[in-house]
Amino acid sequence: MPPLVYLQEKTNSKNFRKPITNFRHRYYPDVTVSDWNDWQWQLRNRICTLKELERFVQLSDDERQAFTEHSHRIPFAITPYYASLLDPENADQPIRRTMVPSIKEYIKSKGEAEDPLGEEGHSPVQSLVHRYPDRVLFLSTNFCASNCRYCTRSRMVGDHDKAILSRENWQQAIDYIAEHDEVRDVVISGGDFLTLTDDSINWLLAKLRTIPHLEILRIGTKVPAVLPQRITQGLLRILRQYHPLFLSLHFTHPDELTDECVAACNRLADAGLPLGSQTVLLKGINDDVDTQRRLYHGLLKARVRPYYLYQCDPIIGSSHFRTDIEKGLEITRGLRGFTSGYAIPTFVIDAPGGGGKIPLLPEYRAGEETDSMLLRNYEDKTFRYPK
Ligand code: SF4
Repeated sequence: MPPLVYLQEKTNSKNFRKPITNFRHRYYPDVTVSDWNDWQWQLRNRICTLKELERFVQLSDDERQAFTEHSHRIPFAITPYYASLLDPENADQPIRRTMVPSIKEYIKSKGEAEDPLGEEGHSPVQSLVHRYPDRVLFLSTNFCASNCRYCTRSRMVGDHDKAILSRENWQQAIDYIAEHDEVRDVVISGGDFLTLTDDSINWLLAKLRTIPHLEILRIGTKVPAVLPQRITQGLLRILRQYHPLFLSLHFTHPDELTDECVAACNRLADAGLPLGSQTVLLKGINDDVDTQRRLYHGLLKARVRPYYLYQCDPIIGSSHFRTDIEKGLEITRGLRGFTSGYAIPTFVIDAPGGGGKIPLLPEYRAGEETDSMLLRNYEDKTFRYPK
């Protein structure tokens, strides 16, 4: 029998620790280890209905109502692997809150919008967003292995009518990039590009690499967290052909850093892929210094450099996830100086309406004197720097 794999840190639930292997034995007794570790088996067996979810968790009234009284604006889907990380009894567990619908998703608050970043207004062809001068966002698919309830692209994720995956749409986007020699950097996102087949991934990367002015390629993905089985040797053989290729990995909480997930990050790093992380700041889920510090320390140990901490975008029905802006500054203040700079991501707001990412930092300037600038350090002590 393979060794039991335990979560690395305790969650907000009291001492909740769940062996993933026990989960498989209990709920998938006929499934072999080899099937469980097969990413396509994981995708074929995603949990997508209330009935399926009820096998694993005791639903709260709020969660049940979200399923029964409303149609899902954001599709509901979780891989069996990621479902094994849900606390069956505690609806407030961070990972569970990011995956299981809540009735609060159906409350529309002031300032919220379907497309808060105004991506559609910066989309010269379907599948592409060109908002910054020298880089573009390539929307490769609307499919994700597991659907986050706070997804910025909830307007398109899971909407298979939009068919952005078609090769014709991809080709239009490739042609646009080829015609715009100011574009030196492409971020491939979606949906989640790494949920596609090896052939599709290879096809797109190969096409992009024929464009001489493209310097770097980037992939944004949550696969190492929700489907670490996808990081196969076959996929790595493809990815390592297209350097410089960077990966931005989406993580939410230290409970995601299981042995499987860390091993997947290590395989990516061993293939020479620089890894950065992206995290959305979420109320009651990861909005405290201790959780953030544990996440970033865990990521660094998995060779992933914390890159961005995002203020949650005001998509429709996100008010229960959004914190005050001050919270992100408080977290930055609580990290800076208290841990290594490598463990501190840049806190940013993606400006509504298409203004791009705006970094926010706590104020470390304490004033000015005739001959010097007054600066405040992490311990709140003031120092003078000569002008
Ligand atoms: S993985 Fe990313 S694109 Fe997919 S649902 Fe989550 S936030 Fe949205």
